[in-house]
Amino acid sequence: MNKPALLVVDDDPQVLAAVRRDLRGRYRESYMVVSAASGEEALATIRELKARGDALALVISDQRMPGMQGTDLLAQSRDIYPQARRVLLTAYSDVDAAIKAINVAHLDHYLSKPWDPPEECLFPVIDDLLDGWQAEYLPEAKGLRLVGHQWSPRSHAIKDFLAGNLVPYRWLDVDRSADARTLIAAAGIVTSDLPALFFEDGSALRNPDPRQVAERLGKSVSASLNLYDLVIAGAGPSGLAAAVYGASEGLKTLLLDRHAPGGQAGSSSKIENYLGFPAGVSGSELTRRAVAQAQRLGAELLVPVEVTGVSIDEGYKHLTLSDGREILTRTLVAATGMEYREHPAAGVNTFTGAGVYYGAATTEASVCSNQRVIVVGGGNSAGQAAMHLSRYARDVQIVIRRDSLRDTMSRYLIDQIEKTPNIRLGAQTEVARVEGNGHVERVAFKRGDGAIDVEDVDAVFVFIGTRPRSDWLPDGVLRDDKGFVITGRDLPADGRYARTWKQRREPMALETSAPGVFAAGDIRAGAMNRVASAVGEGSMAVRFVHEYLALT
Ligand SMILES: Cc1cc2nc3c(=O)[nH]c(=O)nc-3n(C[C@H](O)[C@H](O)[C@H](O)COP(=O)(O)OP(=O)(O)OC[C@H]3O[C@@H](n4cnc5c(N)ncnc54)[C@H](O)[C@@H]3O)c2cc1C
Repeated sequence: MNKPALLVVDDDPQVLAAVRRDLRGRYRESYMVVSAASGEEALATIRELKARGDALALVISDQRMPGMQGTDLLAQSRDIYPQARRVLLTAYSDVDAAIKAINVAHLDHYLSKPWDPPEECLFPVIDDLLDGWQAEYLPEAKGLRLVGHQWSPRSHAIKDFLAGNLVPYRWLDVDRSADARTLIAAAGIVTSDLPALFFEDGSALRNPDPRQVAERLGKSVSASLNLYDLVIAGAGPSGLAAAVYGASEGLKTLLLDRHAPGGQAGSSSKIENYLGFPAGVSGSELTRRAVAQAQRLGAELLVPVEVTGVSIDEGYKHLTLSDGREILTRTLVAATGMEYREHPAAGVNTFTGAGVYYGAATTEASVCSNQRVIVVGGGNSAGQAAMHLSRYARDVQIVIRRDSLRDTMSRYLIDQIEKTPNIRLGAQTEVARVEGNGHVERVAFKRGDGAIDVEDVDAVFVFIGTRPRSDWLPDGVLRDDKGFVITGRDLPADGRYARTWKQRREPMALETSAPGVFAAGDIRAGAMNRVASAVGEGSMAVRFVHEYLALT
C-alpha cells in the first residue's frame, strides 16, 4: 500500500509548484504529495486514490479556479474521504468568502496567500491537521478490530470507551460481516463470548469490560504517587484545564475519569463557538490536544477510574475509587460535570445500548447508515447530534415538546438544520414508548393533541434532562436542591453555611463548603454550561488551590 496522500490543487502553475515543493520538502518521508491543476482533475485523482485503496490525509485547494471552485471540490471530497483534512487557499481579498464557506464545505482551515515563510505560516497548520488525521486514521489491515452484535449494550460500551479514549478501531458486525465470522471462528470464539476485541498480534479479549481493555492497551489505571497536591475528578474541559494549569505550575497533579477524557464536550461532533477555532473543532480533536498538553506538562491521567467517595481528615482528602483503592491528596477539584437523566418512557431502559443511546451520537452514527433515527431534545447538543447523524442516516427526526427550536437552540444550528433535507422537526411531540424485539424497532409518539402514533424507528438518541454528577461528594459539600455544588460567595447566603464552614476566612471563589475542595464547570451551581466557561473555571480553580496550599 502507498503512503497516505496529500493533494494540492491550483490552476496557477507557479503556486502549484511552490506548494508542492514546500510539502514535499517537509512531508515526503511519510506522505506522497500529489497535485492537480483543476477541481475536476483533483476529483478524478481522489476517485483514483479511492479505487486503489490509498489513504488521503489532506486536500489543499485554491478557491478561484476556472470550472469547479475550491469550496465545491472540498465539499465533494468529503463524501469520498470523510476524514481527510480540508484547507482552502485564498487571496487576502477572498478571506470573507472563505470564512463564509467554512460551514458549507466543512473546511478545517483556510490559508491566505502568500504563506511565506512556510515554517511559520504553513507547516504549523499542516502539522496540526496531519496529527489530527493520524489520530483517527486506521490502515485497512492494521489496528484493533471489535467484533460484536450491533444491538448489544456490551458492544456499545466498548465502542464508546474506545471512541471516547480516541483509540482507532474497526467495528465488525457479526450479523453482517463474513470477515467477522471467519475471524471469531479462527480464534475459537463463539457468539455468546462477544464482543471480542482483536489486537494486531492476533490475540483477543472475549467480552471484556472497559477496564480490561484499558489495561491491555497500556493505559494507566493505578496512581503512581502516595500523595498528590491536586487531584481532579472528571476529565471534561474543566478538569483538563485544571490539569494543564496544575501540572504546568509544578503541582503533583492527578486527573481521573470514570469513562474517558473529554466529558460532554468530547461527544460533540463540532464545537463552533470555542475561541481560536474559526472553522469549529470536534470534541475529540479538542480532547486530543488537551490530553497531549496536560500529559506533556506532567499531569497523570487515569481512565477508566471512578471516584465513589471522599473523606477528609486533618485537611487530607482520601478518595475512594470504584475498585476499592484509595488516593490521598491535599486539594481536590470536583469537575464531574453533568450526565443525562434516564428518559422516563416505557421500554427505554430495556433498549439502552440496544438502539437507545444517551448522547452517544458520534460513537453510533456510522452504523446508522440508511436508518431512521430520532433525536430527543431541542438544545444545541441535540442540534449538533442531528447534523452529525444526518450524514449517515436516511431520516433524522428531532422530537421536542415545544412548538419550535427558537428558544432552546442557537440560530446558526437552526439555520443548518433547516437547510438539511433529511432532518425534520417533530414539534409538540413526546416519546411515549419504545418497542422492539432485542433492539429498537418502533417508537410510539404522543402528539400535542393527545393522539398516539407508532412509527418505525431504528435508533433513539436522547439529549434531555441533565443532572449533576455530585453524589460521590461528602455531606460537608453543600449542594442546591438539584444537586449542583454551591461555591464561593454563594455559600454564606445558604442557611446551612454557619453549621458547615468552620474557618476564620471566607470561602475562596470556586471553593466548596469543604476547605480545599473546589468545584469547576457544569457541576457547579450557577455554571454557564459552555466549554469556554468550564475551561475558564478549571484554570481559575488552580489559582485558588495555590492560595489554599499556602495557608496549610
Ligand atoms: C453533545 C454536546 C455538545 C455540546 N456542544 C457545545 C458547544 O458547541 N459549545 C459549548 O460551549 N458547549 C457545548 N456543550 C456543553 C459543554 O460540553 C459542557 O458545558 C462542558 O463539557 C462541561 O465541562 P465539565 O468539565 O464541567 O463537565 P463534563 O464535560 O460533564 O465532564 C465531566 C467528566 O467527569 C467524568 N466523571 C463523572 N463522574 C465521575 C466520577 N465519579 N469519577 C471520575 N470521573 C467522573 C465524566 O466521565 C466526564 O468525562 C455541549 C455538550 C454536549 C453534551
